[in-house]
Amino acid sequence: MKNKKGLRKIRGIMLVVGIIMSAINVCTIALWIVKGMWVPFAVGFPLVILCGVLITRMYYKNTMYICAECNATFKPTFAQFTFSAHTPKTRKLKCKKCGHTGYCVETYAQG
Ligand SMILES: [Zn+2]
Repeated sequence: MKNKKGLRKIRGIMLVVGIIMSAINVCTIALWIVKGMWVPFAVGFPLVILCGVLITRMYYKNTMYICAECNATFKPTFAQFTFSAHTPKTRKLKCKKCGHTGYCVETYAQG
C-alpha cells in the first residue's frame, strides 16, 4: 500500500513537472518564431534540461525493480535505468541476482 502511494506521488510530480517543462518550451519557442525573441528560449531551454535531469535522478532514487524470473528486488545502474526500454510500469533490465533480462516491475524505494 505504502509502495503504491509513494510511486503515485513520484509519478504525479513527474507529470506536473513534465507539463510545466513542455509549456516553457512551447512558449519560448513560440516567442522566438513569432516575435523573434530568442532570449527566453536561450534562458528557458537549459532550465528545462536541468529540470529533466533533476527529475530523472529523483525518479531513479525512488524506484527499484522486481525481477519477473526470481522475484528479487534490485536497483539498476543509472545508465541502465536511463537507456533501457520501458513501459509506464515496467522496464527491460538485467536482473542482478539471476541474470535474467526482461521486463521488471517498478516498485517504490525509500530515497
Ligand atoms: Zn532475477
